[in-house]
Amino acid sequence: MSNNNRLRIAIQKSGRLSKDCQELLKQLGIKLNLREQRLIAHATNMPIDVLRVRDDDIPGLVMDGVCDLGIVGENVLEEAQAERARSGNKGSVKKLAKLDFGYCRLALAWPQELGKQDKSWFSGKRIATTYPEILSKYLEREDIDASVVMLTGSVEVAPRAGLADAICDLVSTGATLEANGLMQGDTILESNACLIQNEMLKDAGKLALIDKLMPRLRGVKQAKESKYIMMHAPKAKLDEVCALLPGTGQPTLLALAGSEEYVALHMVSSETLFWETMESLKALGANSILVMPIEKMME
Ligand code: ATP
Ligand code: MG
Repeated sequence: MSNNNRLRIAIQKSGRLSKDCQELLKQLGIKLNLREQRLIAHATNMPIDVLRVRDDDIPGLVMDGVCDLGIVGENVLEEAQAERARSGNKGSVKKLAKLDFGYCRLALAWPQELGKQDKSWFSGKRIATTYPEILSKYLEREDIDASVVMLTGSVEVAPRAGLADAICDLVSTGATLEANGLMQGDTILESNACLIQNEMLKDAGKLALIDKLMPRLRGVKQAKESKYIMMHAPKAKLDEVCALLPGTGQPTLLALAGSEEYVALHMVSSETLFWETMESLKALGANSILVMPIEKMME
């Protein structure tokens, strides 16, 4: 086991979040030696250990202080928090950031052949789900008197197998629901992956390391959303060119060797440049228009 001075981060070992988590840690500058079957990976350039576990275990590990940080779906976090709250053991965890991967919805669905249904249809019905706490809270909020059937997997086959009348399950494209002859209803929860921290964490060294990682995390997020735009723009049309550029940033203008009529225009934009805008820029006489991804940013 690692020593206690090292910051411990729990991530999903294998599944929908694991690749993005590993990529994020890499972008934060954490160098890991991830060997396939290892539970713990030690960072070689920072006092950080990464624990790779089932995603369902992540909230508990962070709440109990076994790990200092964790990356988990908000769906799993919310379910675990509600479960702890009900058993009177709240667990102290705070969300440090919502991440830009792992998006999904927790939605109700029922057999397609029943056609459209409203909330009153659920009265007296059995709903299968892996998220009994979140579903129960929703039913209570909406004043629906349905019973909850807890299933840990293959929820989408429950109606066909006669285990339930409807389901409440995670959806991203809806293809799984469609393949199982189910019709999608209300969304109960929208979820992304998020970074969580044990709220009781007091170790000054670990807190300082988190303070160092957070601006990097914001920088990675900002860089992903931003583009570096370059072009040769006609001096006579600069105002019109600038009016077409997205975002509020000021462009940099540079002299272009051997040209009196054109300048090189560079800018960082929080948005991409759409084909239509590029065509309008070209129509104004701009050329060599480049839109490039940005790897890192620090303001
Ligand atoms: P584990 O073995 O770690 O318990 P799992 O099978 O419970 O894995 P995955 O299917 O890998 O979990 O999903 C992990 C998380 O990815 C989900 O809890 C959710 O936050 C997110 N996610 C994103 N899109 C989807 C989707 N279409 N279906 C299910 N989960 C999704
Ligand atoms: Mg799981």
